[in-house]
Amino acid sequence: MRVVVVGGGVIGLASALALARDGHRVTVVEAAADSLGGTSVHNAGWVVPVMADPVPAPGMVAAGLKMMLNRTSPLYIRPTLNPRTVKLIYQLARHCTVDHFERGVAALAALAQSSIAELDEWGAQGVTYAPSQKDGLILTSTDREKARHMLEEIHRHHDPKAQLLDVSDLRDLEPALVGEFAGGVFCDQQRCIAPETLVRSLADACTAAGVLIRFAATVVGMRASAGTWSVARLSDDTEVEGDAIVIATGATTDRIVRHLGRSLPVFAGKGYGIDLAAPAVTLRRAVYLTERKVAVSPTPGRIRLSGTMEIGARPGRISAPRIAGIRDAGATALGDWVRTTAPLKTFSGDRPMTPDGLPIIGFLPGYENVVVATGHQMLGITLAAPTGAAVAETLATGRVPEHLGPLSPQRFA
Ligand SMILES: Cc1cc2nc3c(=O)[nH]c(=O)nc-3n(C[C@H](O)[C@H](O)[C@H](O)COP(=O)(O)OP(=O)(O)OC[C@H]3O[C@@H](n4cnc5c(N)ncnc54)[C@H](O)[C@@H]3O)c2cc1C
Repeated sequence: MRVVVVGGGVIGLASALALARDGHRVTVVEAAADSLGGTSVHNAGWVVPVMADPVPAPGMVAAGLKMMLNRTSPLYIRPTLNPRTVKLIYQLARHCTVDHFERGVAALAALAQSSIAELDEWGAQGVTYAPSQKDGLILTSTDREKARHMLEEIHRHHDPKAQLLDVSDLRDLEPALVGEFAGGVFCDQQRCIAPETLVRSLADACTAAGVLIRFAATVVGMRASAGTWSVARLSDDTEVEGDAIVIATGATTDRIVRHLGRSLPVFAGKGYGIDLAAPAVTLRRAVYLTERKVAVSPTPGRIRLSGTMEIGARPGRISAPRIAGIRDAGATALGDWVRTTAPLKTFSGDRPMTPDGLPIIGFLPGYENVVVATGHQMLGITLAAPTGAAVAETLATGRVPEHLGPLSPQRFA
């Protein structure tokens, strides 16, 4: 089958690779000039099934509204009268219940359960994501009771082997953590990879598998018949034909599916990051500063700090106060050098969000030959390999794998 994958981020490339390895003739159409400018390289680089929880959690919107006036807070909902954003925030609020959260965790766990094994499988097949840390993840806490509660939740939902850390365990595992912590949770088997290495290598593996990647090609229109062929119309007025289309356009997916007369409630959850080269300390593993909601990602020669969830933010603009907030959290945990070291770069990225906190994977309602793979929120790197496999299986069998039923686009039809 000829398959056109729209979007060359980590989800589009993972899908393209799985499809090419199944014997399809695949073309990836990517608006950017290369694969290194988007959200898929501007993230913490964690492959962390233990964090596969939906964003809408009990109390989340209330907390966002409370923090609305704080320019350095980790969660921010921008006041807006834009009807689409208002509706999305309302829908998000409706999903902040215990019941929705529990069902969401189960649905995400079904996709995330094979993440680590499939990442290793990619590695065995020549996809590199080094430099990488294989030493697990520490979630710190400044409150011992909170650490205990986190452990219980992780045991219940994800990893019965996660361990509680007291302060001395924490210091033994990571002497570089000089902040005032009360303890934390340690989860082994989680990974921290360099996302730009992964994305570049995925693109190379796609090319080696026969995938044609067309960069600087923006899809500005689409026609898909209910029958066997589909066409993506590009901004340079050329067309790419296929028998099927995979839409993997991240946070802008609603704009794309509107070309096919459909709408999906995908919106941007903006995050920020800062890279510090030649760090003054050595960290052996990924660390999550739970109260500050900041991810610390060590790769050789660099420490990346990232975080913040801004809903309704202006695209592209980097907020200096939010970067300062992330940096302050890093300095509190790792020492003052974080404040004084000149950053290698600062960045922002748009997480593709959905109101129920779950990805959207499956056939676009009304189209037998158009598959959507988006809405991976804070988990696109974690879920890329299993999503690629799910997309290939969906096109091969004509059905979404049964365990991914809750992720179907039909839930928004
Ligand atoms: C600060 C931050 C930290 C994060 N940390 C982690 C983490 O540690 N672990 C984790 O698992 N996830 C993390 N994430 C989330 C992860 O980065 C995203 O879920 C993931 O990158 C989404 O990938 P994607 O391929 O769906 O979207 P994107 O990376 O946005 O790719 C979509 C692509 O589609 C292209 N496109 C859009 N429209 C068109 C068009 N019309 N024509 C052609 N091409 C088009 C875009 O140019 C883009 O390249 C983080 C995100 C942020 C912002």
